Amino acid sequence: MQCPRCNAKTQVRDTQSHATVTERTRQCVQCRHRFSTIESTEERAKLHRLITATERLQQVIMSAHLVISDAEEAIKYLKT
Ligand SMILES: [Zn+2]
Repeated sequence: MQCPRCNAKTQVRDTQSHATVTERTRQCVQCRHRFSTIESTEERAKLHRLITATERLQQVIMSAHLVISDAEEAIKYLKT
């Protein structure tokens, strides 16, 4: 794994295994930047992508509702 700041090599400092994910604390050998990574199985990753897609879809639906209510307001205004 490369450092997100300088792209140098990193070393694992700590590993914590949970039921479905493994969390690792890594440190860059060059700039000493510390960050953590999460490993999960493909099934878990798929589930995460599905949840993200659903949340985005909900945002799109919310935006569409706002556009529709704006249009309804405009129609009401035009009719008066
Ligand atoms: Zn670095």
